[in-house]
Amino acid sequence: MSGLVITDYGQVAIASFPGLAAAGFRHGLTLRRGGHSRGRFAGCNMGLHVGDDQQTVVANRQAVCRVLGWQFDRLVTARQVHGTTVAVVDGRAAGRGAADYCQALPDTDGLVSLTPDLPLMLCFADCVPVFIVDGQLRVAAVVHAGWRGSLANIVAQALAAIAGLGGDASHWRAAIGPAICGGCYFVSNGLARQFDQAGYRDAVAGRAGRFRVDLAKVIRLQLLAGGLTDDRIELAGVCTAEQTADWYSHRAGGGCTGRLAALISP
Ligand SMILES: [Zn+2]
Repeated sequence: MSGLVITDYGQVAIASFPGLAAAGFRHGLTLRRGGHSRGRFAGCNMGLHVGDDQQTVVANRQAVCRVLGWQFDRLVTARQVHGTTVAVVDGRAAGRGAADYCQALPDTDGLVSLTPDLPLMLCFADCVPVFIVDGQLRVAAVVHAGWRGSLANIVAQALAAIAGLGGDASHWRAAIGPAICGGCYFVSNGLARQFDQAGYRDAVAGRAGRFRVDLAKVIRLQLLAGGLTDDRIELAGVCTAEQTADWYSHRAGGGCTGRLAALISP
């Protein structure tokens, strides 16, 4: 079951969450379809760091910003490292990394802002995109959580950053985007044990040699522990590794593919 609404704009296609949209937050997740990239990046590749042509990726990003109603030159993005650093940004960061990967915020896997019309963007291929907003304070956040970020609970860092700005859990909503699912994400015995010991036994399935982890479930548990309620957490319920016509998948692409983007603005 997918909670996503997909809108095809011709040049690009964007998925969105009805609850986040109803709360007044402009946001989107980019599909592969459309775009200008070719070959193994074919479609709307949003990642500048994967070996695709820079001008082509910029054209894809410009098209996405255009349909979402944002100025491309205000786009803020990060050089993601599977860490737990969450950066609070304002207008001074506008444009960081929009057209040049070297200018993106270094060593950052979460972006939080209070500044209106400041689109925040992170890139994904199987890792879990998480949006978090405070509907009263008008804060928006986007988080990148692969197995490292999930195990290290970067979601808690993002919630702490929002609380630090004055946010309160009673006004929070979250949405968990397309990612590799708990049926497809095979992990080593050692990694399965780490998730088990960290308190996520319910998110681990399978048997020795064939363990699987449901990262979206881990993140849902972290959001609940942070004060959110199930009725305020939306789930895409879409597997990137199974639906490769629509989404980029690192595993399905053999490690070399494009990136989908998760974008949101306060
Ligand atoms: Zn799957």
